[in-house]
Amino acid sequence: MIPFFDGHNDLLLKMTLGRMTAEEVRDGHKAGQIDLPRAQHGGLGGGFFALFVPTPGAAGMDMAAMRRDSYDLPLPDPVDHATALREVRKGIDHFDRLAELGVITPCTTAAEVEDAIHGPTLAAVLHMEGAEAIGPDFAELDELYARGLRSLGPVWSRPTAYGHGVPFRYPSTSDIGPGLTEAGKDLIRESNRRRIMVDLSHLNMAGLKDVAALSDAPLVATHSNAHAVTPSARCLTDDELRIIADTDGMVGINFGTCFLRPDGKFITECPVDHLLRHLDHLLGIMGEDGVGFGSDFDGALVPDWMQDVSGLSVLSEALVTHAIGEALLEKLLYRNWLRVQRATWGA
Ligand code: ZN
Repeated sequence: MIPFFDGHNDLLLKMTLGRMTAEEVRDGHKAGQIDLPRAQHGGLGGGFFALFVPTPGAAGMDMAAMRRDSYDLPLPDPVDHATALREVRKGIDHFDRLAELGVITPCTTAAEVEDAIHGPTLAAVLHMEGAEAIGPDFAELDELYARGLRSLGPVWSRPTAYGHGVPFRYPSTSDIGPGLTEAGKDLIRESNRRRIMVDLSHLNMAGLKDVAALSDAPLVATHSNAHAVTPSARCLTDDELRIIADTDGMVGINFGTCFLRPDGKFITECPVDHLLRHLDHLLGIMGEDGVGFGSDFDGALVPDWMQDVSGLSVLSEALVTHAIGEALLEKLLYRNWLRVQRATWGA
């Protein structure tokens, strides 16, 4: 079976929220979309494991609103630095525990990913979605790097000291609000200097263009889809895709149904054709080396035919049926991620 490398999952968030333990992830559970037995069944070889800090006291996403014909969800308030750092450290503790139990193999180089992806544990790269845990002197960037962080997004959808994300708005482009702050531009430079990958998913259009002007690494959107198919603020317009393609970057297709369904509705009914339309559109602009997947497992509703990580095997079958040949299938499932990791991290 060709292994699948995933651009984004929120398992660590679910663990930090107390939904499941590392032992349950190892042995199997029903509380979320990822555990080791189901991962092995679906062919998951590894992925980016996201650290994410929910806004304290804020209600979860308004799913009822996202079933309407159009919606514009208010963003939760910013998270303060101390809270974010505390929660991020807890997330890394869970990551370390998963490693101790043999669920994951922490990876900080492309060579390590390539080794581990074919083995019995999951090749796991530590990612941070929203940079609130990093203070103005960037000292935490060194701490987090030492603990394995190799990828970060300056923002989740709410604003940070570094930039502005897009709200969950449909229909809309990502052309909402100003670009990176001066601190945000420094964060890109500091990340480049340490060869930490910068993730564009959740950034608004001005922020994406600021990163493009500054960064010396291939541009990456780990879990974002095509605006031409689903006109959501979180999806990438053709212009944004071309900016990423010009750097030999890549885009990971998000399985969240609100980003797959052309009508933006967040319901599980979502024929595989919707995903294939995104794939074909992205391949048309990004080329065969510029597309992969970023599931958003444990952070989104995924299609009914997929259910959870075990459904990755159904996806692979659908890609073969869609006349994707073996060489391209390998690129889409993991080789493109390896290519961009090698180009960014230098090993
Ligand atoms: Zn996300």
